[in-house]
Amino acid sequence: MTTWFEYPSPALQEELRKIAQAIVAPGKGILAADESTSTIGKRFADISVENNEDNRRKYRQLLFTCDNEISKYISGVILFHETLYQKADDGTPFVELLRQRNIIPGIKVDKGVVPLFGSEDECTTQGLDDLAKRCAQYKKDGCHFAKWRCVLKIGKNTPSYQAILENANVLARYASICQANRIVPIVEPEILPDGEHDLERCQKVTETVLAAVYKALNDHHVYLEGTLLKPNMVTSGAQSASKSSIADNALGTVTALSRTVPPAVAGVVFLSGGQSEEEATQNLDAINKQEGRKPWALTFSFGRALQASVLQAWAGKDENIPAAQQELMNRAKANSDASLGKYVAGTVQGKAGEQGLFVKNHAY
Ligand code: 13P
Repeated sequence: MTTWFEYPSPALQEELRKIAQAIVAPGKGILAADESTSTIGKRFADISVENNEDNRRKYRQLLFTCDNEISKYISGVILFHETLYQKADDGTPFVELLRQRNIIPGIKVDKGVVPLFGSEDECTTQGLDDLAKRCAQYKKDGCHFAKWRCVLKIGKNTPSYQAILENANVLARYASICQANRIVPIVEPEILPDGEHDLERCQKVTETVLAAVYKALNDHHVYLEGTLLKPNMVTSGAQSASKSSIADNALGTVTALSRTVPPAVAGVVFLSGGQSEEEATQNLDAINKQEGRKPWALTFSFGRALQASVLQAWAGKDENIPAAQQELMNRAKANSDASLGKYVAGTVQGKAGEQGLFVKNHAY
């Protein structure tokens, strides 16, 4: 075994580090608005809005034309390919709207999950083949970070060694290709909440998966200071007989991360994973209040838990846009406070506040 390799040039290291640090600046987090066409279709179906290109454009325009105050809470938005090239009614490209608000555009670059043959319904994520070319183009088009989601499942025999290793490697290849193209990779090994397992099992699986991910990132010479981790929070399973408390979730999450995530990593941006808006905010707040070793920013990259109230308030009607934008502002501020451990539980009431957002075997 030889161990020769080259670090990225100092200029590239600096560029990646600066982007990553800007995203996790104190009190800031990410809005994940990268739902694929079919996933946004499910959200629209709930509010009886037709899933066509113009409605998708109008909805994203609503998100991106929020008052400038939003930039105090949101540092980055993850876009879907189609959205990156869409424009507002007045012709302003969405990327420009985000720039005006000092929000960094990011892009989902994975091409979805595919089954792992011979496994117990496990999967890997595809999209590596032309990734370098796509990253180079996305960088030119204004994206400075990317997301790639891998999915692991907790069952009696899962996640398997095959799934853990395969997904860790795919994430590492993705991360190195992003960095070679001056894009900060968000590394997302999502352990789904589906299952009857308790918190302890989720914690152990999270530790095992993250340990494999950081071994693979090291093997692929990924520059950790220029990466972000997007993990699940450690909780009991969605069908568990006894639901773990917010305090236990916080302890389990901080313990798992402190055991496996190197301090060099720029920041941790949690996914919300089907928690209600208020639950996700309270969990994030408790994680930040939790004592323990936490050398990284611990903030949010929420999809469902930032948009559920917005969608309900909007309901596809132009006259509701200001109310929907106010919902986004309120929940973004609540999560910003939570990322600083300063949220007071129950103080932000959204239209979808306590409503569970769990989706079985969730695809993005
Ligand atoms: P949720 O916050 O809805 O889980 O999604 C975030 C995300 O980007 C998952 O890839």
